[in-house]
Order: sequence, then structure tokens, then C-alpha cells
Amino acid sequence: MHRGITRRDFLDGMALTIGAAVIPSSLFVGCTHHAEPEQSPDYYPPALTGLRGSHPGSFETAHSLRDGTFWQHAGSPIDTSGNYDLVIVGGGISGLSAAHFYRKIAGPKARILILENHDDFGGHAKRNEFRVSDRTLLGYGGTYSIESPEPYSAVSNGLIEELGIDVSSFPKYLDRPLYSADGRVPKIFFDKETFGVDRLLDDPWPFPGGETYDLSVSAPDAWAHFMAEAPIAEQARKDVRRLCLEKRDYFPGLNLEQKKARLQRMSYAQFLGESAHMHLDVLRLYQRLPEPLFGYGIDAIPAYEAWEAGYPGFSGMFGESDDLHWERVHFFHFPDGNASIARLLVRKLIPDAIPGNSASDVVTAKANYAKLDESGSPVRIRLNSTVVRVKHEGDPASAKEVEVTYARFGKSYTVRAAHCILACWHVMIPYICEDLPGKQKQALYAAAKAPLVYTNVLLHDGTAFEKLRANAIYAPGGYHTWVNLDLPVSIGGYRCPHDPHEPTAVHMSKAPCKAGLPPREQHQAGRVELYTTTFETFERNIREQLARTLGGGGFDPARDIAAITVNRWPHGYAYEYNSLFDSFVLEGGEPPCEIARKPFGRIAIANSDAGAHAFTNAAIDQAWRAVGEITAR
Ligand SMILES: Cc1cc2nc3c(=O)[nH]c(=O)nc-3n(C[C@H](O)[C@H](O)[C@H](O)COP(=O)(O)OP(=O)(O)OC[C@H]3O[C@@H](n4cnc5c(N)ncnc54)[C@H](O)[C@@H]3O)c2cc1C
Repeated sequence: MHRGITRRDFLDGMALTIGAAVIPSSLFVGCTHHAEPEQSPDYYPPALTGLRGSHPGSFETAHSLRDGTFWQHAGSPIDTSGNYDLVIVGGGISGLSAAHFYRKIAGPKARILILENHDDFGGHAKRNEFRVSDRTLLGYGGTYSIESPEPYSAVSNGLIEELGIDVSSFPKYLDRPLYSADGRVPKIFFDKETFGVDRLLDDPWPFPGGETYDLSVSAPDAWAHFMAEAPIAEQARKDVRRLCLEKRDYFPGLNLEQKKARLQRMSYAQFLGESAHMHLDVLRLYQRLPEPLFGYGIDAIPAYEAWEAGYPGFSGMFGESDDLHWERVHFFHFPDGNASIARLLVRKLIPDAIPGNSASDVVTAKANYAKLDESGSPVRIRLNSTVVRVKHEGDPASAKEVEVTYARFGKSYTVRAAHCILACWHVMIPYICEDLPGKQKQALYAAAKAPLVYTNVLLHDGTAFEKLRANAIYAPGGYHTWVNLDLPVSIGGYRCPHDPHEPTAVHMSKAPCKAGLPPREQHQAGRVELYTTTFETFERNIREQLARTLGGGGFDPARDIAAITVNRWPHGYAYEYNSLFDSFVLEGGEPPCEIARKPFGRIAIANSDAGAHAFTNAAIDQAWRAVGEITAR
């Protein structure tokens, strides 16, 4: 860490991918002479490193629309004469599913255009690739797995099956023993700023709900080490053990329903402090634990949801039959996360774009981006295109067409369609669809998403994890809250690293938020933080965090880091309603998402926001509903 940061790490990352991805979007954005960069054989976004997710070039148009400056400089849109049966705004899983469902009803000749503001398709389901000599390592830049607290509906299960994914076959691809090979276990990294000393300790009670599936098995002597060495007050250590291991009823005298009602009205932090009488150090230790799952910490998650998620403290509160057990019976993780689902959908829509014919060969299939937007194809996906206006030709009640305007590399264009599905982020919709009723616009604004960061760091080898016997590290005071090795999944022609001396991709996650505020304000603060944090700052923090966490294993960031990809999602998880802050959850009333997703003339509204549920099944189910609405007209 004492060595100055040059651009070497970042450029090395680029160099590793050279030949695969030589047009970072930052180089062509704004250059009108690069009218069709996607046609270049070198165009390959998954292999780009640096700042990804909502990458530079993807959001500026949307922000200028929000700020009211876009039309001052836009000029007159160019009429492309494009005429479609359906234009879909947003190329995430919802938009791609909508195209798929529409074709089932309207037939394979239906003309569909999907417009997406990012340089890649898939939305949050983002693939990160690293090339090291002749080897490709995959990472997930967003949507991690098929899983959901609610069971998948018949529609979403049906689509998953149609794509050839057999969810129950996952154990076949997972090398379970490899995850804990050489005695690797989950750890906690206590940092000196928060706990007075830097210390890496075995985690005696790894929390459920992280990215480690059900493989988090702690070391046999983890409690002994924790009780002796955890740098928190002695009383706090005893309290943690009581919370995790003892069956206590913290609400004696209340019946089952009263207990549940009370848990819905208090935060998990309140439960820990006021009901379970935990030492303040315990709250400091657990404050950030739920962030990657909820987008905020224990100050704002209802205790009821903590119980549902399997957090400790509830095992003596309910009878056996009402005890919840975190079970992931419906789980599937591709090495690139649900980007494989997006790629399977694209293969169905435009077979030439992604070769192959199975859910396992898609993992290594190389997408041909030049095929996404071919004039002869019934389905076209146009990347780098931000939709800025959607309006009916005439009165929405009787109009025969919708005009869609999008901005692309400094110019704007119009196309027309019989119908339009807005599968994009709901906060964007009031700015592009000005004719919507005011009440619906308010409901759409209320869907501002939770910000998240998924960082993938390519290491020349994984020996530091081997020496430290670590596979997943919770960092309650860290810049990133989690540092994980990915699940060892080998599928199709893809082989995950098997030997600590092989290059290894490390996943780090962070949910920027501001404890103490209501969730929406926490998310807003986090979004501002993300848009104003440079890659250099991310890089410095990543290097420092890894150096301190893995230093005991001989890790040297200057030597060991080969490349960094920071997937920044200022608009991440769909906002999920919270019984502490959204009064209608307990008191009743129409949830905003039901108002927000009402069809408007020839326009229907999808996206996981439409279900207020930050999961892939919501993205699919809402696409199905939206297609049903336009085809029923
Ligand atoms: C980091 C992260 C991890 C996640 N992990 C999981 C997980 O493990 N499992 C799970 O089920 N879910 C997960 N999710 C939730 C995820 O959001 C959903 O599963 C699903 O991928 C959402 O799909 P979508 O199509 O609704 O939205 P998105 O993926 O957000 O797609 C919408 C697209 O519309 C585009 N768009 C917006 N405005 C415009 C415009 N004006 N013009 C053109 N395009 C526009 C956006 O840029 C985006 O690409 C995760 C989300 C994040 C951020």
C-alpha cells in the first residue's frame, strides 16, 4: 500500500482483455462518427474492466432529462421511419422476457425493438469476464442467482424451464467440498477504526442470506476463538453467544400473532437493544450485516424480516412449527449470475447473436454483438440508446401508434410502434412519458431503487485465502461489507479455479446508505455517493481493504491484483415496502406499485419495480402481466 497508485492495475486489466474489448464506452460516447460501435468485431462489453454497472456514458442523458436541460441541446429528432409492433424500453430480464412472451402471442414474425441505455443487455444481470492468458474467468456484476423469498410463479418457473435451466440440477455443478478445502471457513474482519484493532477471526455464526448459499460452515473452535479474541466488550461477546445459541423467548406473555405484530413494528436494532438487551458493541458488529440483502442495515430492517431471513435471536420465540428455517431449495447460480438467463433469452430472440443450444453451453458462448440490431431480424436490440420520450400519436384512448424517441451518441431518433412496454426503472418513466396522470407519476417516483456495488477483483492467485483459511469475510467496518470467493461452480465448458495457485476472482459487495434515516433517504444518500465516487477512489479503497484483510496471508495488492471491475448500481434493487416506514403495509391501502403499473393507452409498464420486489421472478411476472395488457386491447 505504500506504493503510489498508478493506472497500472487498471490498464493491466484492460490489457488482459485486449483483443476482446478495445472500445470502452468512455472512448466513443459523444463521438458521432462512431455511429455503430456495436458493429465492430472488437465490441465486447463483458470484458471491460474499471467502472461498470451504470458505466460512464449510460446515465448522463437520463440525468439531463431529469434536470430539464436535455431538450435545450437535443435538436430535432431524426425520423428513422422504423415501425414496429412493439417497442420495449429497457433490455433487462423484464424487457427481454416481455419480448419473448409477446412473440408467443403475436408470432415469431412480430417486429420488436428493444432500446437499452447501457452498452450491454441484461440490465442488472451483468456479466463480467476476465481473460488471463488462455483462461477466462467469469464474475457476476449484478443479479447473482435464481432464488427468492417467495416461490417462483408458474409463469416465471415456466420461462426458466423453457430456457432449459433445471434448477434442481444445481448441486451437480457445485463442487461443495472445494469451497471449504484446506479448512477454509467464513471470517469476520474487525477493523481498527471501528473496533480499535485490525483482526481477522473465524465467524462463529455466519448469517444466512449471503452469497455463500448454504456452504457457510464455521470452524469447530470458532466460538472459543471469538470469545477469547473478538475486539469487543466481554459482555458483548457473551451476548452474541446467548443470541445465537440460546433459545429464549424475548416476548414472554405474548401469543404468536402478538409477537409477529410487535416484530413488524420494531427494527432489528431495537429488538437487539431493547428486547434482547444486547450490549451496544453487538449492534455495532451487526449493523451492516443485512446491507447487501436489504440495501440498509439493522437500524431500518423490521425485526419481523430479520426473523424471516433467519437472523439470530428468535429460536426460542416461536413453536417448532412456526420456526422459520432459511432453506434454499430453489437456487441456481451461474458463474456470471443471472446474466446467463439474459443471454438465454437473447439467444431465443436472436439465435445468431449467441451460439449454442443449451443452458450449460451458454456459459462459455461468445455473444456476437453485431447481430443484435440487424435490419432483417424481427427482433432487434439497440444498445447505447436512452429513451427520452414516449407519447401517443393523438389521444391515448384512441391513438393507433406510439412514438418513441431515443438519444444515441449525441443525436436523437424516433421510431413508431403499435405498442410500447416500459420495462425500465420506474423513476425514469415520468420524465419520458409526460402525459401520464399525476397520481401515477407520483407512484412511479416512489420506486427509487436501492444503490449497490458489486466489485470483482481478479487476483493472480488465491493463496492468501488458502493461508488464512477463509472463503467469505464479513467486514462490519469495511468499505465493502463482504469479501467472498465465488461458489465453485463448473458448468458446460467452464471450469472454476480448483487450485489456490490459479487466478481467482474475488467478489466484494457494498450497499451505500446512511444509517438512521428512513430507507428512501438512505438510498438517496447512497446514490449521490455512488455517482460522485471516482474509480480511483474505489480502487484505493479496494486495495487498502484487501491489503489489511488478507495481509496475514501474504497478500500484496500491488503484486496480486490483476484487474478490478466495479459494478456501480446507483439504481439497484427495486424498492421493497417496509412495515416500519410504509404505513399501508400494516394499515392497508393501495401500494404505489399497483398505481404505478397501470396501463396507459397503448403503453404498459413492467420491470421488477412494478412488483416492488427486487428479484428475477418479479421482473418476469411483471413482463407477463404487461404483455397481457397490451395484447388484450
Ligand atoms: C447488484 C444486484 C444484485 C442482485 N441480485 C439478485 C439475485 O441474486 N437474485 C434476484 O432474483 N435478483 C437480484 N437482483 C434484482 C434484479 O434487479 C432483478 O433480479 C432483475 O434482474 C431486474 O430486472 P429488470 O429487467 O426488472 O430491471 P433491470 O435489470 O434494472 O433492467 C432495466 C433496464 O432498463 C434500462 N433503462 C432504464 N431507463 C431507460 C431508458 N430511458 N431507456 C432505455 N433503457 C432504460 C436500465 O438501464 C436497465 O438496463 C439484484 C440486483 C442488483 C442491482
